[in-house]
Amino acid sequence: MSYHRVTDSPKKVIVIGAGMGGLATAARLAKRGHKVTIFEATDSVGGKCRTEWIDGFAFDVGPSLLTLPAVYRDLFLKTGKRIEHVLNLKPVDPAFTYVFHDGKKIVFPNLSHNKTVTAVSEAFGNEAGNQWHNLMQRAEQMWDSSRESFIEGELRSPLQLLKRKSFFSDLKTIAPFTSLRSLTSRYTDNTYLKKIIDRYATYTGSDPREVPAVLLTIAFVEEAFGAWHVEGGLGSLATALETRVRDLGVELYTGMKVVKIEVNKGSATGVTLEDGRFIEAEAVVANADAQLVYNQLLSKNRKTARPRKSLRKATPSLSGFSLLLGLEGKSDLGHHTVFFPEDYDAEFDDIFKFKQPVRNPAIYICNPDDQKMREAADSESWFVLINAPRHEPLGGFDWNAPGVREQYANHILDLMEQRGLNVRSRLNVMEIRTPADLEVRTNAPGGSIYGTSSNGARSAFLRARNRSPIKNLYCVGGSAHPGGGLPLVGLSAEIVATAVEEN
Ligand SMILES: Cc1cc2nc3c(=O)[nH]c(=O)nc-3n(C[C@H](O)[C@H](O)[C@H](O)COP(=O)(O)OP(=O)(O)OC[C@H]3O[C@@H](n4cnc5c(N)ncnc54)[C@H](O)[C@@H]3O)c2cc1C
Repeated sequence: MSYHRVTDSPKKVIVIGAGMGGLATAARLAKRGHKVTIFEATDSVGGKCRTEWIDGFAFDVGPSLLTLPAVYRDLFLKTGKRIEHVLNLKPVDPAFTYVFHDGKKIVFPNLSHNKTVTAVSEAFGNEAGNQWHNLMQRAEQMWDSSRESFIEGELRSPLQLLKRKSFFSDLKTIAPFTSLRSLTSRYTDNTYLKKIIDRYATYTGSDPREVPAVLLTIAFVEEAFGAWHVEGGLGSLATALETRVRDLGVELYTGMKVVKIEVNKGSATGVTLEDGRFIEAEAVVANADAQLVYNQLLSKNRKTARPRKSLRKATPSLSGFSLLLGLEGKSDLGHHTVFFPEDYDAEFDDIFKFKQPVRNPAIYICNPDDQKMREAADSESWFVLINAPRHEPLGGFDWNAPGVREQYANHILDLMEQRGLNVRSRLNVMEIRTPADLEVRTNAPGGSIYGTSSNGARSAFLRARNRSPIKNLYCVGGSAHPGGGLPLVGLSAEIVATAVEEN
């Protein structure tokens, strides 16, 4: 995909939503000379990707880890000044600390396979170090086989994959009908390593026992291309992108909700806003969650029956319960720490089967080593994230039921204290965010973090395609191909910008 020539036929394009996918598509299209307008329903840009300040403490309330920064380097480079001119990207070293129920601990270095193997060997023995090496080798092969066909281009149908020359060897490498859990078990019986690998399924809001083995590539990508922080918080990525799109002449309106995508003779013609105005366009790019696009913004018709059916079949992504803790004084907690429970399977049963808050969850804490994220030098801002079932008052879990948020927050603080984290005595600020809050703040149905999950061998094909069945209507972002998380959302924008140009 290249952007070497400015278009001869500029189009009027409307983007619904100023999440990372919407902003990135707008930037690419505006750079090529198209006239782009973004309508964002909430009062701020970035969607799930935002940094919030509360009484002198800053929190990344969405993404707190950037992987595959090349995607955003490419975006900034191709739409104007290089990313280094506008943001300070920092590798996080060590990348992660994992603490297990029995007190065992391992610290993963950043950007070094050899050092990681050494760390695993020292913590769990040489055999485990070799097993990690073999797992990462397999993950790299999977990355090479899947990158082009599954991630960097449009995924139109399984047939498209069949036509590839390397189809049979790719199939063997990717093992599409094997789950991540099963594949890991073939390489290691080390329960600590298994938990570390299992957790990568949650990077797509999924269950390690259900997701295809190819998700092992996430572990490889993190190890090979690193874990990164953006100085000032990852939300700076969104605000830098807002500046970029405005510099490129994009008209961006916040607090303006789109209530309908208008279609005439099978082709999108524009959108209707909440205030009743119709805005005409030659192309509409929907960054809103695909569930909203197909079930609310479009009138139901035969053409959209298939994606609606696929979305019904797909398992929605898990959500998150978070605590924003502004703490006095300093601790020795690293930038990213995960405290694993003894029974990790119970977490996925609670979320996907019983649809209830996890009793003994994995606790992820982001304690950014970034002075620009707090006013007082002698303080810390912790973002604590617990995987949680979506907000689903009918037939699922109601996060707005009286007392639920406070009780669960207290339960998490108790669990943290049991792990030796003395938080209550240092507490200066505490805010609770439930999946219901996430839904309201980001317009993500049920507070799903990643749209639909990757549970099931067919999950990639159930996700919304970038080109909708309605001509001139495109879907971009975490709920569309290739999926959620900042890197994939950035790639989704590149695919959609190219598709808009091609039509
Ligand atoms: C708690 C949490 C932790 C996460 N951690 C990580 C992480 O560490 N690393 C990582 O890479 N990713 C992480 N993610 C995922 C990542 O944030 C998302 O995948 C990504 O930001 C989604 O971008 P998007 O383009 O899909 O847009 P979204 O962020 O979903 O934004 C869509 C926008 O569309 C707007 N919209 C919706 N409907 C309408 C309408 N009708 N009219 C106008 N506007 C509308 C919404 O208000 C919203 O602003 C995390 C997410 C969360 C919530």
